[in-house]
Amino acid sequence: MATPHVLAVPYPAQGHVIPLMEVSLRLAKYGIKVSFVNTEFNHERIVEALSETDNTQEKESVNLVSIPDGMEPWEDRNEVGKLSEAIMNVMPGKLEDLIEKINETDGDKIMCVIADYSMGWALEIAKKWGIRRVAFFPAAAAVLNLCDNCPKLIDDGIIDSDGRVLKKQKFQLSPAMPVMNSETFVWTSFGDLAAQKVMFHFIMNNYISANGADWSICNSTYELEPAALALIPNCKPIGPLLAYYRLGKSSGHFWPQDSTCLEWLDQQPSQSVIYVAFGSFTIFNENQFQELALGLEITNRPFLWVVRQDSTIKSTLKNMLEGFQDRVQNRGLIVSWAPQQKVLSHPSVACFISHCGWNSTVEGVSNGVPFLCCPYFADQFFNQTYICDHWEVGLGLDKDERGIIRKEEIKNKLEQLLTDERYKERALNLQAKTMDSATKGCSHKNINNFVAWIKGKDNHSL
Ligand code: UDP
Repeated sequence: MATPHVLAVPYPAQGHVIPLMEVSLRLAKYGIKVSFVNTEFNHERIVEALSETDNTQEKESVNLVSIPDGMEPWEDRNEVGKLSEAIMNVMPGKLEDLIEKINETDGDKIMCVIADYSMGWALEIAKKWGIRRVAFFPAAAAVLNLCDNCPKLIDDGIIDSDGRVLKKQKFQLSPAMPVMNSETFVWTSFGDLAAQKVMFHFIMNNYISANGADWSICNSTYELEPAALALIPNCKPIGPLLAYYRLGKSSGHFWPQDSTCLEWLDQQPSQSVIYVAFGSFTIFNENQFQELALGLEITNRPFLWVVRQDSTIKSTLKNMLEGFQDRVQNRGLIVSWAPQQKVLSHPSVACFISHCGWNSTVEGVSNGVPFLCCPYFADQFFNQTYICDHWEVGLGLDKDERGIIRKEEIKNKLEQLLTDERYKERALNLQAKTMDSATKGCSHKNINNFVAWIKGKDNHSL
């Protein structure tokens, strides 16, 4: 009998690739064959990062394949509007060629496509080829609620039909949902109005395609987002998608993980270290970067800070960082990419200064770590609302009149977070509920049903 063969298509950004890789590794564990489609640009980075770490298990269990993303090698993939346009122009044709090639050469034909919601076009191709379709959402389910409600937001005059914000206001999609703010809608973070329009239509068109899928899954749990998931019963939460399930190994990283920081953490007192990381995309201006460094310096606590090499630090900052590192060398460590999930689960870590990307949010919650929130763009502002106002496991960092989070603000909020024991208590409660869902609760059940469906043991589609 043929092995079920799934094609996984992530949106080509780090925060999308990692959780879909987690889904893929789980399917592989259940005996399902997975071909994971990266863009050529990301494929090279992932293979290089893997070669520098010991991740042989991943290399064997998921087949990494690649297609071009439509951009030249030297072009900036952080220009999301441009990247998304290039994707739409080039990737559909290349994906069809890939499916054809796999089906001709592999004894196990592709029988299911799992695509990120932002790659909904891939599910249109699956439909054309008569292949089963699964839509995967890597962000908070509440963001899907927002997409669902866009027609109403247009009717209510909050946005126009190109997503331009006409009314600045806060609102709730249901009484139990966290407050949303029209000024920080996901697409409003992307460049000028023209870029925002491109992104709005990209998001909505892909969302509509993804909505027609046979199954919809997301990296969340009913415990984290009861109200949001109640509004979209067809979307089944299977989170938290943690590397935890594979004995701490993780995969799909664009940069090699520097594990030396784990040995450093071993030497720090329990519950003492401030972990500082802002995901794969955040870039600080010079002033903010400096203020953050000074804030960490005056806290007088140990810290582990991830400063990505591509975060365009100018030479003045490099000099500043050197002086800074000399001053804090006994209690501060800077790395360029950390094994974040292992760091967050380390007993020395006391709290997480985070940009509130959804993966970081879920990972912090799953390890019972309280947050200081410093959102940068897109859904991160909304995730902060979950952390601070809804779950009450963190505090926001306020900006001054010049739009800068000052060093004193960082120091004061850290003291508040670490001396008020209720933050840690609530974080541990939320961790227990979230992990229960993954090990024996709803997420566990959903993933089992999902695997059964892929294997053809349950023909019920949603
Ligand atoms: N991450 C990591 N090492 C780092 C920083 C981040 O492994 O030093 C991982 C983190 O665990 C998460 C992902 O990168 O899984 C970042 O995703 P998130 O949604 O938090 O942020 P984004 O990169 O999309 O802004």
